[in-house]
Amino acid sequence: MRIGIDLGGTKIEAIALAGGREAFRKRIPTPRGDYEATLGAVAALVREAGEGSVGIGIPGALSRITGRVKNANSTWLNGRPLKEDLEKVLKRPVRVANDANCFALSEAVDGAGKGASVVFGVILGTGVGGGIVVDGKVLVGPNAIAGEWGHNPLPSPAPEDLPLRPCYCGRAGCIETYLCGPALERDGDLGRYEERLARSLATVVNILDPDVIVLGGGVSNVARLYENVPRLWQRHIFSDQVATRLARNVHGDSSGVRGAAWLWS
Ligand SMILES: [Zn+2]
Repeated sequence: MRIGIDLGGTKIEAIALAGGREAFRKRIPTPRGDYEATLGAVAALVREAGEGSVGIGIPGALSRITGRVKNANSTWLNGRPLKEDLEKVLKRPVRVANDANCFALSEAVDGAGKGASVVFGVILGTGVGGGIVVDGKVLVGPNAIAGEWGHNPLPSPAPEDLPLRPCYCGRAGCIETYLCGPALERDGDLGRYEERLARSLATVVNILDPDVIVLGGGVSNVARLYENVPRLWQRHIFSDQVATRLARNVHGDSSGVRGAAWLWS
């Protein structure tokens, strides 16, 4: 069995896949702010799920230098040797990956990106995250930040994008501050949102040239994005044709936890 855990800021979800089929699923609240309790909760869920490989999706990533968690907005995880600690408690190897990478992997394996060679997965939720999967494998990168697109600056800011918005990361004008769910709620202008998303995704197409871009998170439920954004991104993409598809996720909220399970494939 493949066991997947999605360790989120408000809930921890577990799944066990036997083949591709779901054999177990459970969701519990995250013990916020308490690292030891978070470890205990994850370990208990894994034991309940049974024997099998364990993959965990986290907000943030494991530092290539220290092996400890970095960049997590669930800040009580930062600086902690989460992988090592869990392996000690569970007495089995554990794979840990960024939650947006897990989302992209899940959609690449048997979701909206199935059969595609290069998949860029985007989460447009409370925050904005991205992940890249090439030929069924997550691209991590030497800095463990491949696909971290939300903290790039918004390309070609227009007068209505100014002044550049301050971001919690310390920079200004980050894509996340314009494209996260709360920003859309605050601005309330869907046309402007689509235009900003088109500009931001065009830079991804120019660099990565993915077969498909899959959207996840709450904003991905807005149906008109899939028609309007590919029309708007044309003029920002340096090509005579754009074959890249923009697709809605297939697995919805389950993609994070499914992708974590697929970390062992
Ligand atoms: Zn930022």
